[in-house]
Amino acid sequence: MAEKLLNYVGGRWVAAASGETYPVVNPANGTTIGAVPKGGVVDTEAAIDAARDAFDAGPWGRSTPGERAGYLLKLADLLDANADRLAVLEVSNQGKTIKQARDGDVPFSVDNLRFFAGAARSLTAAAAGEYASTGTSFLRREPVGVVGSITPWNYPLMMAVWKLGPALAAGNTTVLKPASLTPLTTIELAKLIEKAGFPPGVVNVVTGPGSVIGEALVSSPKVDMVSLTGDTATGRKIFESAAKAIKRVHLELGGKAPFVVFEDADVDAAAKGAAAAGFVNSGQDCTQACRFLVHEDVYDGFAKKLVAETKTVRLGDPQDRKTDMGPLVSEAQREKVEKYVELGKKAGARVLIGGGRPDGKSFASGFYHEPTVFGDCDPDMRIVREEIFGPVLTLERFGSEAQAVERANDVIYGLYSSVWTRNVARAMRLSRALRFGAVEVNDHLPLVSEMPHGGYKQSGFGKDLSLHSLEEYTNLKHVYVDVTESQRKPWHYITYGDL
Ligand code: NDP
Repeated sequence: MAEKLLNYVGGRWVAAASGETYPVVNPANGTTIGAVPKGGVVDTEAAIDAARDAFDAGPWGRSTPGERAGYLLKLADLLDANADRLAVLEVSNQGKTIKQARDGDVPFSVDNLRFFAGAARSLTAAAAGEYASTGTSFLRREPVGVVGSITPWNYPLMMAVWKLGPALAAGNTTVLKPASLTPLTTIELAKLIEKAGFPPGVVNVVTGPGSVIGEALVSSPKVDMVSLTGDTATGRKIFESAAKAIKRVHLELGGKAPFVVFEDADVDAAAKGAAAAGFVNSGQDCTQACRFLVHEDVYDGFAKKLVAETKTVRLGDPQDRKTDMGPLVSEAQREKVEKYVELGKKAGARVLIGGGRPDGKSFASGFYHEPTVFGDCDPDMRIVREEIFGPVLTLERFGSEAQAVERANDVIYGLYSSVWTRNVARAMRLSRALRFGAVEVNDHLPLVSEMPHGGYKQSGFGKDLSLHSLEEYTNLKHVYVDVTESQRKPWHYITYGDL
């Protein structure tokens, strides 16, 4: 019998107003592992009211950075203490490997909360200086207010933490909506938030359809900012709705990361890096290395090595520590991947390895897809241009540095990229020429709490992680104080400089 879970609103655990729930599935075997509230507009409005109240009237709005840091550190400790349990749950709900959940996502989340606990106390706004002889002025960095945070299904716990850490550190209150497919660890996180003693209403969690809850968050005049990690199409919808209210949005959207291998690269290292960064999280990662641009002199050697590396990827039960790649998150996501594989074949790309569902009884009821590499791709193919979000890599040849740059930049996305070369000058040139929020040299993926993460172009705007993301969740206010205590001549401010 699946456990029935509740939403967390205003410090209370509540069912959806409609009483409805929906099932949550384990993608490794298709079984139902939970039932969560199917929240709607009424539930979202209750959560917004609770967040508004906690911000406007509750203690959070008047808390000191040190106090907020205390709560975040407590939460980090609780997350750490529950790491094993949370990792297992994340794997059951999302299908990622236990290695990744336990050694990657959960410790990163713990570290992230600790980072923002520290950052909360270093968020300062400088004195603006004595710009006018008649007064003094200074800057305040203030929380934006109520933040609607909408998270995706590829890193459910980690994305919830990435959104909560800076928002709470800066003094905001939040309504958090997890992806419908993967709400379980977010609900567990809310339990830990309660245990850490956060005042009621500071964090509220509502589960249910994004089109309903998301729209209610974006359109509510009581919500000051909406932050999404998700599809570019979803980001566009949110941006359009937010435009009506001129609401601040932070959008971390799709990606189609190029991985550029030059003729002077360490091809062995590049091939190993390619398989790791290509099949991470079964390719369901917006930073996934998926477009391989390889110099024609090393193309064949690289392709051979990448295929050999791909052969070593162990597909299997994600709860098994020996497994390198688990299933996709849902049947719909697998069908999307399969559609692209067919498109690739029809367009004339050559399957070098993979290309279908794995054989075997152990894979029969899960949403598995083989790690797949396409060779002989060209820049116009849809598999090269569109986000697949699955374990499908494409290989193209290039002849010159200029061509590599042009091809790498020739997509609507601009989130992540990497350059593989031993030539420092070339690496520096590429780090400038590539229009992506991140360029990595001789690696692809490393990301820690101090590094800003966010896109160019249709990958969105605004940064997650780092002190830059803390600023995203604040407003900068200028305060000017007259120090003369004197009667001023009428309209004195009209004459610039007469201050
Ligand atoms: P979505 O963008 O639909 O989902 C991300 C989040 O947005 C979920 O919480 C979702 O809720 C919510 N959402 C959906 N519609 C709206 C809306 N109108 N207003 C506000 N919030 C909304 O991604 P999908 O699950 O549909 O995945 C489709 C594709 O998106 C993937 O194949 C992949 O290409 C890309 N993607 C990219 C991600 C990234 O990290 N950049 C992450 C996830 C997906 P709900 O789950 O209830 O629909």
